[in-house]
Amino acid sequence: MSARSEPEAGPTGRHAAGLFAAAAMHRDSNGNSLHAPVLVLNASYEPINVCAARRALVLVLKGVAMTEEENGHFLHAARIAIRVPSVIRLLEYRRIPHQSRALSRKNILLRDRNTCQYCATVLPSGELTLDHVIPRSRGGSSTWENLVACCHGCNRRKGNQFPPEAGMKLMREPRAFNLHTSRHIMRLMGRSDDKWRKYLFY
Ligand SMILES: [Zn+2]
Repeated sequence: MSARSEPEAGPTGRHAAGLFAAAAMHRDSNGNSLHAPVLVLNASYEPINVCAARRALVLVLKGVAMTEEENGHFLHAARIAIRVPSVIRLLEYRRIPHQSRALSRKNILLRDRNTCQYCATVLPSGELTLDHVIPRSRGGSSTWENLVACCHGCNRRKGNQFPPEAGMKLMREPRAFNLHTSRHIMRLMGRSDDKWRKYLFY
């Protein structure tokens, strides 16, 4: 997510890179606000993603996006102060492919709201594991539809069995990430940020 990694970075992009190089020297004062989450809206105002403030500033400085809401912090660099965004909006509409979310442990736990899908216990991420509903040893794959959040107790009890064989039942059918799911995740992330509300809660 560095300015250098932008393939289409023009003069504005290089300018942005220089600003961040300067900002890096003030890491103590700027570090936190540069990692703050920023809501990314499509040109249509549809929420499509969450990124770090640093990435959002690169998009704004390159003219790809504009700031819709600020987070109250400033990035001090090269004798100027830039307001750090809380919400940005892309200036050109982008088609967003469905299911663009990466399959990862973190995203499965987010989808399942850190809840064991067999016994409904809510646990911190570190105390949950991922269960293959159809066990791997019996041909189950690592997909959105076959992975669920699971506590260690249920995971041991289920072992290499299908849920009914172990006398267990899923709370609900695991689904791939869709627009609804990712909006749910954006809502979870934005719950503490009033400025996100009007774009996410309607
Ligand atoms: Zn459990």
